[in-house]
Amino acid sequence: MKYIFSVIYWLMLFVCSTAWALPQQLPVPGGVVVLPLDSNANVPPEVTYDAQRVLVVRQDAQWLAIVGIPLASKPGTHKILVNNQGTINSVLFEIKDKSYPTQHITVTDDRKVNPYANDMKRIEAETAKINSALRHWRVSDSVPLNFVWPIEGRVSGLFGRRRVFNGEERNPHSGIDIAAATGTKIMAPADGVVSDTGNYFFNGNTVMVDHGQGLVTMFCHLDRVDVKAGQKIQQGEIIGTVGATGRVTGPHLHLGVSLNNARVEPLLFFPEREGYPSVE
Ligand SMILES: [Zn+2]
Repeated sequence: MKYIFSVIYWLMLFVCSTAWALPQQLPVPGGVVVLPLDSNANVPPEVTYDAQRVLVVRQDAQWLAIVGIPLASKPGTHKILVNNQGTINSVLFEIKDKSYPTQHITVTDDRKVNPYANDMKRIEAETAKINSALRHWRVSDSVPLNFVWPIEGRVSGLFGRRRVFNGEERNPHSGIDIAAATGTKIMAPADGVVSDTGNYFFNGNTVMVDHGQGLVTMFCHLDRVDVKAGQKIQQGEIIGTVGATGRVTGPHLHLGVSLNNARVEPLLFFPEREGYPSVE
């Protein structure tokens, strides 16, 4: 009897941990789809979506493509290309429509909305550096998907919102904001390698963590950065502290998740939390 209970316990633990480790699916712009791949091979199929390599994981002898859908995607039928040791097939999937609400924000420093000509040069160089870190493909056969929240705090800004700063339309919100006091320690949500750090015009002090196969987390507006580019980090390690640097209205953490170079809804990757919005 004791043996049976122990088997049930371990079975439940296994089922819960594998189910929990995959991101929640949401087939909309800014969402994520998980697509089973038709392959019995021991080596993972090579998958691309919009010419970007896609994260492939194995679960119960089944290869799965985990695809990030860019916010600018049009609803309709989309496809990934699956290269199975030289044989290329496509897998179709549907993207549904989602309209994200508009948010009006007032920032006191208008230069952060209408940058000067010399600021623009800086912004272009920074955007190129950030994009290159987000596009980077790091080979890894064990991409960690069991994320932990980097800080405590209430969500003060939702993903995907169209944003109007001081009356002018700007890029949609590429992550979520979590309000917390300046100095609050930020933990790495999962193992990875620091791909980039910097002090950026809009994002302020920033850390980007590459978790492998195009999965990158981004932490912005930090007060202090405690890690360096190229550094290996473990889940729970402190990467910096919450601050109010860059284009902000107060201290908070901007948390972004990028998958195959698509900025996606971070809530899909983290465990459910009381008081947090649901994304269904
Ligand atoms: Zn933000």
